Amino acid sequence: MTGDDEAHLRMDPPQIYVERTLAIIKPDAVKHAEEIEDIILNSGFTILQKRRVHLTPEQASEFYVEHYGKLFFPSLVAYMSSGPVIALALARENAISHWRMLVGPTSVTEAKETHPDSLRALYGTDQQRNGLHGSDSYTSAEWEVRFFFPDSIVEPIAVGQAARDYLARSVNPTLLKGLTQLCKKKPDDPVVWLADWLLENNPNKPRVKDTFVEEPK
Ligand code: GDP
Ligand code: MG
Repeated sequence: MTGDDEAHLRMDPPQIYVERTLAIIKPDAVKHAEEIEDIILNSGFTILQKRRVHLTPEQASEFYVEHYGKLFFPSLVAYMSSGPVIALALARENAISHWRMLVGPTSVTEAKETHPDSLRALYGTDQQRNGLHGSDSYTSAEWEVRFFFPDSIVEPIAVGQAARDYLARSVNPTLLKGLTQLCKKKPDDPVVWLADWLLENNPNKPRVKDTFVEEPK
């Protein structure tokens, strides 16, 4: 085996980037929401958050502000505020492009011709009432997830080596000690015992209690 081969074998596995994206089940497709959510889950997405909301025309205009001034803008706003929609924050690796692929082309006619298995081909009606929305870039995904879920944390999730480093540094040393003690004690409820042990032995807990030492009189 050459040095090059060995270097190849020692290479880290490729990094996988977990992304978030925003999906909307538009008003005309809400009646198929259960089926669509099943497809979402079966396609490897996690549903992080979900809301059913009836957008006001002002909210729909703000969401689609990039299309302001286009001929179809007023009718798009009227359509998106015509009934409840379901907004979903989805996560998986490369979520943004995977979700756009699953949703299919904007035009339902085109979707039916070129991507007959896409969600728009299955649940859309026409160019406007196309059933589903998907963020088109990392920047718009962040903005759109925040639009519907202002409290969500959109910092990247630690994955791969970063996650292993984080756990190795901040959790594993304490957890291993706790698990060792747990195996010695074998308590009736090991989970509660471990939880108590971790609280008691949390290295981030202040070591010194506030005590007042009286000055000698
Ligand atoms: P998307 O990213 O695939 O959703 O497509 P766009 O960002 O270009 O358009 C946003 C939404 O506006 C689409 O999903 C449709 O609901 C609607 N839309 C786009 N193009 C047209 C059009 O030519 N006519 C009408 N009536 N609606 C359109
Ligand atoms: Mg778009």
